[in-house]
Amino acid sequence: MTTRSGFAGEGARATSLRTGETPRLHLHSGAPRAILALDMPADPPKTFYLETFGCQMNAHDSEKVVGTLVSQGYRQVQTVEGAELILYNTCSIRDKAEQKVFHRLADYKKLHSQGKRFGVLGCVAQQEGEKIFDRAPFVSLVCGSASYRNLPQMLVQLEAGKQRVTGLDDRETDECFETEFTARTNPHRGYITIIEGCDKFCAYCVVPFTRGKERSRASDSVLAEARQMADLGYTEIQLLGQNVNSYKDPSGKKTFAELLAAVGEVPGIKRVRFTTSHPRDFGRDIVEAIDSHPTLCDHVHLPVQSGSTRVLDAMQRLYSRDQYLERIAWMKEANREISITSDIIVGFPGETEADFEQTLSLLDEVEYDGIFGFKYSPRPNTPSLKLDDVVPDEEKTRRLTVLQEKQREIQRRRYQRHIGQVIEVMVEGRNQSRGQWIARTSQNKVLNFTVREGVSPELGSYVSVVTTVSFPNSLLGEMVI
Ligand code: SF4
Repeated sequence: MTTRSGFAGEGARATSLRTGETPRLHLHSGAPRAILALDMPADPPKTFYLETFGCQMNAHDSEKVVGTLVSQGYRQVQTVEGAELILYNTCSIRDKAEQKVFHRLADYKKLHSQGKRFGVLGCVAQQEGEKIFDRAPFVSLVCGSASYRNLPQMLVQLEAGKQRVTGLDDRETDECFETEFTARTNPHRGYITIIEGCDKFCAYCVVPFTRGKERSRASDSVLAEARQMADLGYTEIQLLGQNVNSYKDPSGKKTFAELLAAVGEVPGIKRVRFTTSHPRDFGRDIVEAIDSHPTLCDHVHLPVQSGSTRVLDAMQRLYSRDQYLERIAWMKEANREISITSDIIVGFPGETEADFEQTLSLLDEVEYDGIFGFKYSPRPNTPSLKLDDVVPDEEKTRRLTVLQEKQREIQRRRYQRHIGQVIEVMVEGRNQSRGQWIARTSQNKVLNFTVREGVSPELGSYVSVVTTVSFPNSLLGEMVI
């Protein structure tokens, strides 16, 4: 129901991204970083294929994995058939996402006899550990995200013929989440991880178990990377973390809001986004920073999960409906109009019809610009496993449908308001068949547009567009010259 592509922890989408579709990779060495902009070697001997499932954290982790493998002489290819090493960067936020990986492995199992090696990375790797070798004996590498910086050593072991190589960490790991190299595939917009892991332990969530305890990166290191990205021509930066606003600068120099503002002040940076925020740690200073820095995007994703305080308590979310609405009020009082999106789970154990009605009334009250709605699904190790899953699946499906229909109507109204407005967009692509350019607003809405004959905006450039048509999930307009 919205335009974002996904993130970790808070209701992460189980989307799959096949990386490797770029002709050129920018490699960044580790923080503080000297940047190398290298063309791929002409014909390196070792090839790998990487498919990514899940959220933006995983997408960025894959950029780190690609950077590390390329630095070790590997070449990324776009088909499983053309690769010697086949890697899946996995998501375990929902059962469906986890199953997808095992289905994918089963599909390609036969290729093992051709000498290909398989690796499972990320959250499923961390969660299942060596059990993956029992379930899929042809897998040779199992590596959680905190161990990516050790990938070079693991590759050496693999190349030496070791059958089972693992990189797994316990929850208490202090491992830094930075790798020496990162391969960014988008030349205009890039991610920077500022905090990894989670200490919140929401009752339904695997993230604290798969990504370990919270550890933040020093603000100087974040800013150094932001400046280097600006030097390379990036204009949009997205700060990432499972609870990005729980950020605690190890050097004690900056709060999260101050870091946001400082990244927004880096010369050359035109847009700064951040995801995902936890309502309990969402302070008014974040809204003030957005209000006073036009480079900070006027969009906040603030997952509520339920509109019922009773259910929020059962979910161990650490805030009430009223406290959540207080944060919404701060954003609505801002001078800039801030677009607000959210995640909602329906059918959490014990959720009654009255609880669900409260979630629906919250949609009316907040008027989100987008939501991601999910049916509750029990996950390994999580506290909610001990609760009786009393909501039958058909009822969860019904509630999800009702929720999405209601939100669709809200979005119809919300998007209609933009008709007639002139909005700055970043040009992201071209839809040849429709004769349109694809672009995104600061509020993270897709605004496609047409241009006068002879005009051809550059990808990554910023142009003004007058909005002429609205849909529930996107806008259409004409470029203003
Ligand atoms: S805050 Fe809750 S939902 Fe978000 S990552 Fe942590 S445990 Fe998961």
